[in-house]
Formats: sequence, structure tokens, C-alpha cells
Amino acid sequence: MKKGKLLVLSGPSGAGKSTISQRVAQESDIFLSISATTRKPREGEDENHYYFLTKEDFLTKIEEGAFLEYAQVYGQYYGTLRAPVLEMMEKGKNVLLEIDVQGSMQVKKAYDDCEMIFVLPPSLSELKKRLAARKSETEQQYNLRMVKALGEIEAALQYDYLIINEEIESAVTQLKQIIDSLDKKMKYNRNFIQTYIEEEKQT
Ligand code: 5GP
Repeated sequence: MKKGKLLVLSGPSGAGKSTISQRVAQESDIFLSISATTRKPREGEDENHYYFLTKEDFLTKIEEGAFLEYAQVYGQYYGTLRAPVLEMMEKGKNVLLEIDVQGSMQVKKAYDDCEMIFVLPPSLSELKKRLAARKSETEQQYNLRMVKALGEIEAALQYDYLIINEEIESAVTQLKQIIDSLDKKMKYNRNFIQTYIEEEKQT
């Protein structure tokens, strides 16, 4: 059985990556990893969004090596638990991680084969507009997210794919197309080529 592929989706706050990844997980056969975090749940959030841990529990899991990657984002810990991700991949299921740039770089280092996808709004002014429109944010939070966003955009060049999220339907389609096209990459077809080589050897 073919192993599932590991996909990483990142982008600045306001790029729409949560909406895109949730839509794609609902509409196609991909497992969206649930992260652990020490931040408090927002209204309407439960264990379908995050595993909400105390800082103490999170630090214990770091020591146990339970995380595939983890990072501090806006003063809170966020991390991807290794076991469910590897289990799904072993079962042949593709896995999508929606994580920040620091975490993505750790995943890329550990799993050279992962597919790195970056999401951006169509322009910097649009990004600023979308960040400002998030009503829950104070001015201080807005500034913090803007500074982080600018840093993340510099890291975009290290990714494999770019999705420009002008409008959600198109962005969802773009991610599905990327996932569909992966099967054609030669690196996932080495075994198939090998069957040709073996057969030729036997004739
Ligand atoms: P939020 O608190 O708004 O849900 O997420 C804040 C940031 O943390 C987002 O950029 C999101 O992509 C990132 N994030 C969520 N889960 C993880 C994770 O497991 N690891 C890392 N490194 N970042 C994460």
C-alpha cells in the first residue's frame, strides 16, 4: 500500500488558511491534523479544532518527544502530535497540517518529502484590510499579527506551492488541484518505475 503524503499549509493570519483547510478536509479524502495548544478556546471551539492543554501538560509532551513540531505563536504553545499523523500516513491517508512558518520549517527538516503550500491574499493592502476586519482583535493584537505576517511572507520562498486567496471557492479548488496533481510526481512513483525495470531484467 502507498503511504499517505504529508502536506503543510501556512500563511499569514488573515490569509484564510483555516477556512481553506477545513473546506478541503470536508470535501476530499484528506486528514486534517488537530493541533494541541495552550491558548484558551474561542467561542464555538472544541476538541474538533484544537486539543486544549495546560502549559504544564504541553511541556511534558515536549519532553516526551510527542510533537512532530511545535512553536510559540503570540505567546502560546502550538504543536502537532506525531502519533496520529504517522498513523494516518501509514494507513495510506494524506495528512494536512495547518501550522505556522516556524513549525513548517521543523517539519521540512524532519520529512524532506513533505509538500509545502503557502497561502496569501492577492496583495499586501488586502492582507491589511482583512486583518483589520477581524473584529475580535485589539490594536495591539493587530500590530503583532502584522509584524508576524511580514516575517512569514519572507519565508514563503521556501515553500513549494503558492495559493492566492482572492476568493474562497477558487482557493479551495486550487488546494484540491495541488493534492490531485501530487500523484503524478515522479518521487511518488518510484515503485511503479521499478516494476518496469524488474520486468525488463527478467525478459
Ligand atoms: P489561532 O490561535 O488563530 O488558531 O492560530 C494562530 C497561529 O498558530 C496560526 O498561524 C496557525 O497556523 C498556527 N498554528 C496552529 N496550530 C499549529 C501547530 O500545531 N503548530 C504550529 N507551529 N503552528 C500552529
